[in-house]
Amino acid sequence: MDRLWSPWRYEYIASGSNPDSAPTACVFCSIRDDPDRDEANFVLYRGDLNFVVLNIYPYISGHMLVVPYEHVGELDAATKATTDELMDLTKRCQTALRAAYQPAGFNLGMNLGKAAGAGIVDHIHIHILPRWVGDTNFMSTIGNTRVIPEALATTYQKLRGKF
Ligand SMILES: [Zn+2]
Repeated sequence: MDRLWSPWRYEYIASGSNPDSAPTACVFCSIRDDPDRDEANFVLYRGDLNFVVLNIYPYISGHMLVVPYEHVGELDAATKATTDELMDLTKRCQTALRAAYQPAGFNLGMNLGKAAGAGIVDHIHIHILPRWVGDTNFMSTIGNTRVIPEALATTYQKLRGKF
């Protein structure tokens, strides 16, 4: 799916960490290991075992990910402590999104494996998306294109203080 407005793609292409271009390093491990650049990487919160980050290819404004620090490709290969905190942070994401955007609903989910639609297959992560009635507009229906109405930096500033 194409997006009409996605200037952040350039930064990822320029930095060589675009997941579409067969990167050699894991982008989530790179973000994990670079806490000095949390704002540039849109990291909203760091827990003990997981971090919360904005999806740089959002399906909708406010699209967040919770990612374990551990580089693990299957949910059932992660430790109980990791997945317990992953779910606790997912709940905090829901609370933060509700406070910032008052969505009418949420989508939560994980894509495990390329066949299931995972963009980054070797490092699990859960998606949290706010939803509104009618937010799937005609552009995504007829144009295979989605309009993202808010800059990532703006979304980041709105959500950062909610954690
Ligand atoms: Zn990784």
